Amino acid sequence: MHLQGRILVTGGSGFLGSHLCDRLLEQGAEVLCVDNFFTGARRNIEHLIGHKRFELVRHDVTFPYYVEVDEIYNLACPASPIHYQRDPVQTTKTSVHGAINMLGLAKRVRAKILQASTSEVYGDPSVSPQAEDYWGHVNPIGVRSCYDEGKRCAETLFFDYWRQHRLRIKVARIFNTYGPRMHPNDGRVVSNFIVQALLGRDITVYGDGQQTRSFCYVDDLVDGLMRLMASKDEVIGPINIGNPEEFSILQLATRVIELTGARSRVVHRPMPEDDPRQRRPDISKAHALLGWAPRVRLDQGLKRTIGYFEELLSDQAVRSTLADA
Ligand code: NAD
Ligand code: UDP
Repeated sequence: MHLQGRILVTGGSGFLGSHLCDRLLEQGAEVLCVDNFFTGARRNIEHLIGHKRFELVRHDVTFPYYVEVDEIYNLACPASPIHYQRDPVQTTKTSVHGAINMLGLAKRVRAKILQASTSEVYGDPSVSPQAEDYWGHVNPIGVRSCYDEGKRCAETLFFDYWRQHRLRIKVARIFNTYGPRMHPNDGRVVSNFIVQALLGRDITVYGDGQQTRSFCYVDDLVDGLMRLMASKDEVIGPINIGNPEEFSILQLATRVIELTGARSRVVHRPMPEDDPRQRRPDISKAHALLGWAPRVRLDQGLKRTIGYFEELLSDQAVRSTLADA
């Protein structure tokens, strides 16, 4: 794929956004990375500073932003439960006002726009695997609602801009994704378990550990997003992007302990409120419309992620920021 033109990536200094910026630059695009550094890290994009086709702008997407671009990937939003619950009002504003501002920009400059939506729109699903026509089972007033309902409202806005203004939209529903550059302190299960194992701490399994997730490696995910953006205008989604291999959280803990060779024990902690019991994408639509399927198996992806965290944790400054829990 050779790309031309100017591409805006909101949330570009975050975990997924920084990998996306890398790939877009590799394919020849000019990349404008917009981020307010709420959860993003400078170290994720430091290697791109000085690249002649890369520009970094500190900006909060809840405020309007005007720029000439051809495509927009809207990824700005804290994604881990502890981060999005820290300031829930700001989380909803980021999803909703952020979507309005980016859709307004797309309308004004006739850009194609992709929304990073989430499997959380399915809530605690009563069907498995989850296909795109499942409407979900979401608590509108719980502690996860700022994220779930914010993302649902953003999807509504995307579809209304498409119906009302014929905007070229793409909506991806991303399932749990992991890999290098996850925030070491963001509480997500893969980064938590790897950091705990590497530091020889207890592995904290919430509840009985029988809840399931399907983990997609970041390179596969970015490939899926880029294929969706490049697809024909009629392909608007929503489209699930995720790895359909399903694991219980206890199985994940065992894999991480084995792959790191850690002596950590598994300890159980209370289950967080409204934690979905199961999650597994039906990816037949992505397969049929984008020719996409994930390629990286869990063990392979975990090994690469462990390698990243080993290096990161060798930095004393990073280690000192990690909670003792
Ligand atoms: P992340 O927290 O690493 O990245 C989010 C980025 O958005 C950060 O750089 C953050 O600073 C930035 N941001 C937050 N609020 C902002 C604002 N108001 N203005 C500008 N920038 C802002 O998370 P991630 O895992 O890279 O997730 C990226 C996107 O993908 C999010 O929209 C998330 O909801 C979605 N997603 C991720 C996953 C996953 O498993 N990683 C799953 C489903 C959906
Ligand atoms: N989880 C866990 N221990 C941890 C962190 C998370 O058992 O240290 C569980 C969590 O309860 C959930 C699953 O792992 O059932 C995935 O959690 P994560 O926060 O990564 O993502 P999400 O719940 O948004 O899918």
